[in-house]
Amino acid sequence: MSAIATNAKRGAFDFLDRNARELAILSDSIFYFGELGLQEYETAGLMTSLLEEAGFLVQRGLSGFETAFLATYGSGGPVIALHTEYDANPENSQKSGVAHREEILEGAPGHCEGHNVNGAVLVAAAIAIKRAMQEYGLSGTLKVFGAPAEEQILSRPYFVRDGYFDDVDAAFHNHISGEFKAIHGITHVALISAVFRFLGESVHASTAPWKGRDALDAIMLMDAGMAQHREHMRPEMRAHRIVLEGGHQPNVIPARASLWWYFRDPTAEGVKSLFDKAHKIAQGAALMTDTSLEIDVLSAVWPVRANQTLAEILQQNIELIGMPEWSAQEQDFVRSLQIQAKVEPTGMPLTPTPLRGPSPQRAPSNDCGDISWKVPMGRLSFPSNAPNLSFHHWSAGALLATPLAHKGALVGAKALSGAVIDLFEQPHMLDEVRRTFKDELAGVTYASLLPEGQQPPAALNKDMMERWREPMRAFYMKERPNFR
Ligand SMILES: [Zn+2]
Repeated sequence: MSAIATNAKRGAFDFLDRNARELAILSDSIFYFGELGLQEYETAGLMTSLLEEAGFLVQRGLSGFETAFLATYGSGGPVIALHTEYDANPENSQKSGVAHREEILEGAPGHCEGHNVNGAVLVAAAIAIKRAMQEYGLSGTLKVFGAPAEEQILSRPYFVRDGYFDDVDAAFHNHISGEFKAIHGITHVALISAVFRFLGESVHASTAPWKGRDALDAIMLMDAGMAQHREHMRPEMRAHRIVLEGGHQPNVIPARASLWWYFRDPTAEGVKSLFDKAHKIAQGAALMTDTSLEIDVLSAVWPVRANQTLAEILQQNIELIGMPEWSAQEQDFVRSLQIQAKVEPTGMPLTPTPLRGPSPQRAPSNDCGDISWKVPMGRLSFPSNAPNLSFHHWSAGALLATPLAHKGALVGAKALSGAVIDLFEQPHMLDEVRRTFKDELAGVTYASLLPEGQQPPAALNKDMMERWREPMRAFYMKERPNFR
């Protein structure tokens, strides 16, 4: 199989070429919004208004997430979904276009993973596909999901639980990379994110400590219990935590204390068993301190898997489009950035990465995992960042609002739209997608790891973002993208 530039596909690519500047402005706009997970109001507002103006029917506030959305175009089958994230991280403010650490605003949140470009590619590809469907009479439904708070691995398991993917035939996720490639296999691990809160009773810590019930003692005992348990964890398991609440001043015995834990394992079953163990340890800590225990599971996700047939379809489109041409100046900049970040100064690759066997499963997680067990999912990596950089490090933010990122975004949006148009033009390809997906699942039945009736933590990051939004506003883009 090799991808053919049909008229519909050519139409989509031409549209994207004509709108390359709008794509760049959108990507940069999201970069300068720099909004934390669940607080992506400016970002989601701009993305949804562009989709609405382009003729999509937009539904906001999916599954209780105010900054989530679903934009739909068309009707009937096949139903193809696109989804990605657009959130930033705390303390990741970084100037773009400089090969050294320099904050836009000291201490502010910002993009150092490239989710700004992910969001822009999603919108541009969606509009290009919609126009091609309209112009060339392609039947089917395009569903475009905006997924908040990927950095807290949060929203998509809720979308799947609430049935948003029940009628989807195939889904695609796009993510920034230092390469232009498609991948398949199980690439990420399962994760449960949960707050363990202990409730005791405050009293003066000096005059009557024997009357208090100390919640801080409880979190320390839970931590000690988990530390002992580590010896018995399988090497691929992970458990990491921060203290959310630990009291206010030494002379008041803390009545409330809490730990926020992430548990990880290569399998959904494994992460559930690690969580159950932590639950027992927490119950023990509560018993020892005569405190009560509340557990709030913020999110629970499956590992990410990518379907081989969809990877092949993506790869054919990647090769049809080819790598952007990098200027000598861009290559010099990338190498100096890589040297500053103490990684191999390879520069940008000159060709797409060939499709290989299944990718190795690595330790990060992504909240799109549940989608990938519910329906066949393709994963596109597009070249808008320098290779080898570590996400969340300042160096991974230094290219995100530059012409290099814009070039990578353009080929990314083309590859994504090309693959989706292939499925709309040749829906029989979905038979093979379904067949390989069934083989890949190998009899595993998907069931959400979220506790029954679980609601998302709507207030997450609210205080931090409120503190930063006004000073950050001074750096917003003055121009608004306008796709035509
Ligand atoms: Zn990411």
